[in-house]
Amino acid sequence: MLSTRGYAAMTAKAALQPFVFERRDLGPHDVLIAITHCGICHTDIHQARDEWGGSIFPMVPGHEIVGTITQIGSAVRQFSIGETAGVGCFVDSCRTCSACREGLEQYCEAGMLLTYSGRDKDGKPTQGGYSTQIVVDENYVLRIPSALSPAGTAPLLCAGITTYSPLRHWGVGKYHKLAVVGLGGLGHMAVKIANALGTEVTVLSTSERKRKDADRLGAFDFAITSQPETFTRLQRRFDFILDTVSAPHDYNAYVNLLRTDGTMILVGAPDKPTPLAPFPLILHRRSIAGSVIGGIRETQEMLDFCATHKIESDIELIPIQQVNEAYERVLRGDVRFRFVIDLESMK
Ligand code: NAP
Ligand code: ZN
Ligand code: ZN
Repeated sequence: MLSTRGYAAMTAKAALQPFVFERRDLGPHDVLIAITHCGICHTDIHQARDEWGGSIFPMVPGHEIVGTITQIGSAVRQFSIGETAGVGCFVDSCRTCSACREGLEQYCEAGMLLTYSGRDKDGKPTQGGYSTQIVVDENYVLRIPSALSPAGTAPLLCAGITTYSPLRHWGVGKYHKLAVVGLGGLGHMAVKIANALGTEVTVLSTSERKRKDADRLGAFDFAITSQPETFTRLQRRFDFILDTVSAPHDYNAYVNLLRTDGTMILVGAPDKPTPLAPFPLILHRRSIAGSVIGGIRETQEMLDFCATHKIESDIELIPIQQVNEAYERVLRGDVRFRFVIDLESMK
């Protein structure tokens, strides 16, 4: 077993604290990654506070992982020692269901094995990237293009793929108008990726402070959602809305911003349901849909796309000792736009 140091929530809502645990020894198909960087996703906070239910404790969060391969199993063919590699939100799946065979492991019928707060085949809980090292089957590891910096790339492993995948699935492109709701970690990646796809992007935000950021990120328009005139001015404007908001909010107001046949895609995952009025959907044949991260093949495609288009996340690099403070700042919307933990600070 490989003794590993990390930071864990010992119980729901407890502050994260130093924690030593064991990773499995390498199997023939495993690689060992010395983690250099790990992003802080809002999901880490939902999970560490057990807001969705089913969290497993002690929990080492973190699923935006980048590091260097330091050991490989005897049958590993796709990676070699010294390469920069990434791990996202899941580390295994059944590999045999139709979703897995199509490369849609995130929709595995047996359920994907989450990078943390999951139960591995041996029954042990999985532990995430706020730690020094991780052992992962090579089939669930991503190649990091050399044009990308490790720190700015870590958030692509969740925030990047979570926004890229629905934009590609729904064919969002040059002739479309897209609204991105919430300019946080996911939202700012959505603006960058949609821009690269040639889409006209409008940011809908609760904070006036982010107007300048939206402009800098390349948004065409910006509007504040607390102002009622936003919802009259932009009525029936958008082909697509990508909702990245982490807290419960009223979807109905946004539905009216869709054109006939428009689609509102939910990726933000608030912990409480929201009532939905049928008529705004019925009368304009609108849809509300959802999407979760992306498969391994598509995640690699997204990383290569980001390398081609010189897209990285805007980050604030922090030592792991500041993780609890960072959580509070994410909850206040005070981050531009992703905290990334520098695992050098664990040494
Ligand atoms: P984040 O950085 O905290 O961004 C969320 C943004 O939502 C905030 O920046 C804020 O934007 C807006 N917001 C927050 N509270 C709000 C409220 N009460 N009303 C309206 N707007 C509010 O979080 P993130 O890491 O991007 O994650 C966002 C959500 O997506 C989380 O629920 C997370 O669990 C979920 N998620 C889903 C997937 C998936 O596969 N579907 C993957 C990753 C994350 P403004 O300041 O611009 O208003
Ligand atoms: Zn995430
Ligand atoms: Zn499967």
